[in-house]
Amino acid sequence: MHTTSPSITDVLDAARLIGPHLPETPMWSYPVLDERLGVETLVKHENAQPTGAFKVRGGINLLARMPKEQRVAGVLTYSTGNHAQSIAYAARIFGAPCTIVMPENPNPAKVAAVEALGATVEIKGATMVEAGEYAVTLAAGRGNRLISPAEEPGLIAGVGTLYLEMLTRRPDLDVIFVPVGSGTGAAGACLVARAIAPRCRVIAVQSSLAPAAHDSWRAGEPVRRPVGTVADGLATGSAFALPQAIMRELDDFALVSDDDLRLAQWLLLSEAHTLSELAGAAALAALISRKDEFAGCKVGVVCSGANAGPAELQHVLSAGPSLTAGHG
Ligand SMILES: *Cc1c(COP(=O)(O)O)cnc(C)c1O
Repeated sequence: MHTTSPSITDVLDAARLIGPHLPETPMWSYPVLDERLGVETLVKHENAQPTGAFKVRGGINLLARMPKEQRVAGVLTYSTGNHAQSIAYAARIFGAPCTIVMPENPNPAKVAAVEALGATVEIKGATMVEAGEYAVTLAAGRGNRLISPAEEPGLIAGVGTLYLEMLTRRPDLDVIFVPVGSGTGAAGACLVARAIAPRCRVIAVQSSLAPAAHDSWRAGEPVRRPVGTVADGLATGSAFALPQAIMRELDDFALVSDDDLRLAQWLLLSEAHTLSELAGAAALAALISRKDEFAGCKVGVVCSGANAGPAELQHVLSAGPSLTAGHG
């Protein structure tokens, strides 16, 4: 499949298209956090999006640019998480019938979230790969527009608006940390930083327990890796070609452990008044693990999402306080 790479012009267009639907999200620093890290840390609050995650920027841009006949024919995608909510939310705005394919035994809260947005959920396949294969067949049979979770220039340009907001507000940032699952967010960050803040470093971060995108980036070719992380926003077992091609521009790619994610999630909660899901804390986790290297710098970290389930919330509240011991 040939997919054209998006450009900074596409990100600027996306900002215009999503503007009427999504206000700019806030970005703040927190004195206690800054003091702890020895870094001026700007937290970009995508937890404040209506779906609780940054991906909705991509969904709205993609649907906004879609020809009307295609919208009327309906959209279809596969995901259990924030991508599903993004497409369902955008489909509701633009009046497009929307189907989400999820693998067997989905989390009932996630099914309820997309159904409440008016989408239809179809449950098929033991794994996400099988659900994806079924989605391809189903979309072809029905004439729906199949939306890939990552091989979509419209999604990458849309999520790029997050970094456009960040670097327009603070063109003086020395480095930004960007969490990676499929790589759309990091690809958007590369496009924007290279165009408007070329001296700002862009560092991607993935879980060491699901390093497919990281290892593919280092190897320069797609590799598959097992998924062991509990951070579902980062849990991708293979690399996607389009975001990987754009991510060649990254300055570095870090890995963090699930314990690093838990510490960062706790610090966001206790020192930045911010609820994040584990994936949403990955950017801060990477900064924490390398804070000495960035002493005195101005650093942007995105809190990419806040859709933590009840078990995850219970865990961060009970285990959080002991995690900060030794990290003072
Ligand atoms: C999807 C997601 C990510 C990873 O983004 P990609 O564009 O898939 O690399 C990070 N954090 C959260 C909360 C997400 O939902």
